[in-house]
Amino acid sequence: MNCRSCFSETVPIVDFGKMPIANNFLKNPALDTYRFNLAAEFCETCSLLQLSEQPDPELMFHDHYAFFTGLSTFMAKHFKEMALTNLPLTYSQDFMVSEIGCNDGTLLSSIADLGIRHLGIDPSQNVVESARSKGVTAEVAFFSELTAREMIKKYSQADLILAANVICHIPDINDFARGIKTFLKQDGKFVFEEPYIGSMIEKVSYDQLYDEHVFIFGALSVQSIFNKHGLTLVACEPQVTHGGSMRYTIMHKDAAVISESVGKILLQEKELGLDNIETYLNFGENCAIRKNELVQLLKHLNQKGRKVAGYAATSKSTTVLNFCNIDSSLISYISDSTKEKIGTFTPGSNIPVISHEEMRLNPPDYLVLFAWNHENEILAKESGVLDSNVKWIRFVPKVEIVQ
Ligand SMILES: [Zn+2]
Repeated sequence: MNCRSCFSETVPIVDFGKMPIANNFLKNPALDTYRFNLAAEFCETCSLLQLSEQPDPELMFHDHYAFFTGLSTFMAKHFKEMALTNLPLTYSQDFMVSEIGCNDGTLLSSIADLGIRHLGIDPSQNVVESARSKGVTAEVAFFSELTAREMIKKYSQADLILAANVICHIPDINDFARGIKTFLKQDGKFVFEEPYIGSMIEKVSYDQLYDEHVFIFGALSVQSIFNKHGLTLVACEPQVTHGGSMRYTIMHKDAAVISESVGKILLQEKELGLDNIETYLNFGENCAIRKNELVQLLKHLNQKGRKVAGYAATSKSTTVLNFCNIDSSLISYISDSTKEKIGTFTPGSNIPVISHEEMRLNPPDYLVLFAWNHENEILAKESGVLDSNVKWIRFVPKVEIVQ
């Protein structure tokens, strides 16, 4: 295929096979018939890791999108910090903050509370309604250059644009970058954070790859994407969220003051081989090894008559369950807190989703932690309420029973 950013020929690195829509948790799994091929390719020219095929966005982000940022208290705190630390010390009355992919308004509500002009943009009607109920101004739209022009007409350009775990969802990355170029004021900042390629490679956290994540970025690829559009990378800050993320700050080239962090991270990425195809081919081989280890462990526990269930019916779990061919014979059910998911089945693998309360009443012997990126938060929450005999299984950064 051709790179979605620079159009060079890309190299295939890993193929996970046929996949359903990752977030398609349905009460009637017979209706879940759509499949696409989940595979990743690497561009040696701009160091961008990308999916070779992505389902139509309308199939993924719609009026019953069942992911609400505010459900994680840890993420809610994290986003509040992201919003507030990026505000300048002083700002004029017309200062405007925009968030692309505002979801349920978790981040923007702290801006709204300060009485600052703001605008959330999100393609899913139901989450936008939830944002509006928090007093957040929000519009239903996919962000693009055209959307940027419409928003400027209706509101204004933005001084600060924020986005978290959103840009990696947008396949036409050049149109997106042109949208930022248009929407951002001359001295404005665009701050976004995304799962980090360095962490994914290091931890072999291949479940970062699912339909919604068409890209996994690093500083090298981010710099290349925005440079082509008159913008530049001015800061990089590593984050612990989502199992290792990076926060990037982008400015117009002619207004940019570049921090030392950029050179430092770019150098680190070259030292780690993140610009080298061999690193990615090696990652592809490690995915197959991880799959084998997890399946062997589950089969072994099953043969010993142990009851194994899963914790957190995440979008990411769809890649793991389908790639590893795990069904309800190996994992009896998955417990989750999202009310829209309870009573449904996991996409493709047809494992029932029940509530955490129901799981705790009749707990399994082992729980596979699918939300491994929230391990500390979850284990702390469950330590007081879950039967202490239940053992946890993690599969990132390696397959093991948590001691
Ligand atoms: Zn490229």
